[in-house]
Amino acid sequence: MARSAATCKQPSVSSSIVTADDVTKIYRRGSKPGRFARAVGRSAPPTVSAVDSVSVTVSNEEIVGLAGPSGSGKSTLLHLLAGLEQPTDGTVSFQETDLATLSKRERTRHRLEHIGIVFQQFHLLDSLSARANVALPLVELGVSKRQRRKQATELLEQVGLKDRITHRPRELSGGEQQRVAIARALVTGPALVVADEPTGELDTETGRAILQAFKQVAENRAVVLASHDQETLEICDRVIRLQDGTITERPTEETPTQ
Ligand code: ADP
Repeated sequence: MARSAATCKQPSVSSSIVTADDVTKIYRRGSKPGRFARAVGRSAPPTVSAVDSVSVTVSNEEIVGLAGPSGSGKSTLLHLLAGLEQPTDGTVSFQETDLATLSKRERTRHRLEHIGIVFQQFHLLDSLSARANVALPLVELGVSKRQRRKQATELLEQVGLKDRITHRPRELSGGEQQRVAIARALVTGPALVVADEPTGELDTETGRAILQAFKQVAENRAVVLASHDQETLEICDRVIRLQDGTITERPTEETPTQ
């Protein structure tokens, strides 16, 4: 990254970026019927409350961790905050806008413009160079080719990949691929960046470098990291612990996700 990893965050105006107010997400159980039937018997309802009456606010320049064992609702809450999923009940507001008031098309546009998403498995397109991968969100926003190349190049330089701009993902290490994914998440200048197990595919050393990168990402935006990894949770300003879809006050014992 261009700036020192040791840079301290300055106190800032704590403005709310995203708020989940009493949100619940209920899924149908269809996807895992065998496990479910064995675990709870035939009379159990065919639904699961992946997130149950959860309220969270994430502010600018804050890194919030979502912790908890596998199946506790971390990814679902992350997806709700990012607008990738709609709550069954409750409200998710992004800077005062209730996402439920937006049409599907408006929600897609909103995500493109305001939210950067980093996945555990990077989700890069193998047929494209690192620069073209980073520039992809700008294509959908109608940004000119010249501007796209400029912004993507700058971002790749900032994440330390100046010499990898024209490389394809398969020519990059896992850590480099995750840096490309971070650059892509930042290219639209989003106010919120969310990441699901961002170091899950990386070795310890590389994972630490990626966490330093996230600290810098949060210098002028909000970041939410869903993870069961202790080192990831340690860089967070605040950790919200989930168990069975609800927030627990007590720290929960982490168990490895699948
Ligand atoms: P975590 O990220 O903590 O592992 P998830 O949010 O992925 O937890 O899942 C929470 C619960 O919701 C689990 O019981 C999971 O099986 C269920 N779940 C998640 N996504 C779906 C889905 N698309 N359809 C059905 N059930 C789901």
